[in-house]
Amino acid sequence: MQTALSILGSTGSIGQQTLQIVRDHPEQYKVLCLTGGNNWQLLVEQALEFKPQIVAMADTQAAQYAAKELGETVKVLSGEAGILHAASMPQSDIVVAAIVGFAGLRSVIEAIRCDKAIALANKESLIAGGALLQATLRTSKSKVVPVDSEHNSIFQCLDDKDSKRRASKIFLTASGGPFLNRPLNTFSSITPGEAVKHPRWSMGAKISIDSATLVNKGLEVIEAAYLFDLPAHSIEILVHPESIVHGLVDFVDGATHAVLYPPDMKVPIFHALETLRGAGTPIANNRSVAELLLSEGKSLNFLAVDHARFPAVDLCYAALREGKSSPILLSGANEVAVEYFLQNKCQFPQIAEVISAVLNTAKLREVSDFEDVVSIDNAARTLANTWLDKYAKAPAQN
Ligand code: NAD
Ligand code: MG
Repeated sequence: MQTALSILGSTGSIGQQTLQIVRDHPEQYKVLCLTGGNNWQLLVEQALEFKPQIVAMADTQAAQYAAKELGETVKVLSGEAGILHAASMPQSDIVVAAIVGFAGLRSVIEAIRCDKAIALANKESLIAGGALLQATLRTSKSKVVPVDSEHNSIFQCLDDKDSKRRASKIFLTASGGPFLNRPLNTFSSITPGEAVKHPRWSMGAKISIDSATLVNKGLEVIEAAYLFDLPAHSIEILVHPESIVHGLVDFVDGATHAVLYPPDMKVPIFHALETLRGAGTPIANNRSVAELLLSEGKSLNFLAVDHARFPAVDLCYAALREGKSSPILLSGANEVAVEYFLQNKCQFPQIAEVISAVLNTAKLREVSDFEDVVSIDNAARTLANTWLDKYAKAPAQN
């Protein structure tokens, strides 16, 4: 029987790769819902190809354009209510949570509330809503499998109770991004075009900038802490420019387990989908990815993070140790700074500076419910905007 997917964020990088998997595995998967932000042209194209029952667009104007194009063929919903409907439909077997940023949090909570199986790509929802999501999960039948490549790999290494008991440390690998070897004294002249050009992965704009600052890896440390219930000191980052080893776990017996595959998100997406399809379903081969041919003679290198080059990493560890409102402040401030940088309105090193300023200015608060998360995120955005309005400098000329 085909597994029905609700893909939230289908017009994005993860969303499109998920659809490629559906295209390559028609016996296993079909599409029930597709959602997007404002790219209605692509959503219409996807709807015509995959024939979902429902599509939803966050942008109401875009939803109207999509509805006009699609006519009676599919039901078109709009706004946040439409996305939440897609997250909660009883007929869907798996929700793929691939919206970018804080905007994805509500739909993830809704999917958990409705006991959905969730392939979780949206890391910002875990970072901002970590404790809240953990609490919601405790009273839900929902199952979550991480899609983020490092976390999916760690998940694979810790897939039974015994391995969790024997694990002593986990390592998340980082390619180092496009500026691993760029002279530090030229960082203020980095342009958005240079920063989105990732040497190994093809991804959405926001995560590409996060990978260039290594904020992405810092966010992933927080993501891992919530997903695997680990303290900051048990999670390390290893720079690994080839992006072939994605996650490693040290065990108390002295062995280290690692998960290797080519830098292609269709591997962890497929693994998450197949795991959530559950026991009893026939094993499927992943037709969407190329084989990793180690016999071709690949060299694998590992090195420590250069903290002077990537100061945001320490900020992320500090936010994780501090807990409470800190990760929400960090993630919110980063989203604002990335948007500024993408619009050429601030310099690359200022992304970490604004995060630091917001963490230092905002008062640490307890987080009890969703309203707290939203208000802390808003406060972070206001502080970040104020700081940037005052101090932002356009990228320096080379
Ligand atoms: P993307 O920018 O390519 O796509 C984001 C999707 O979210 C799009 O469909 C967009 O229309 C939708 N969206 C944006 N704002 C929205 C809003 N306000 N309401 C509803 N929908 C909205 O992003 P991506 O690279 O696919 O990343 C998605 C998530 O997966 C991110 O959290 C990212 O960190 C995580 N992730 C991505 C990759 C990757 O390789 N791309 C790898 C690991 C984790
Ligand atoms: Mg990752």
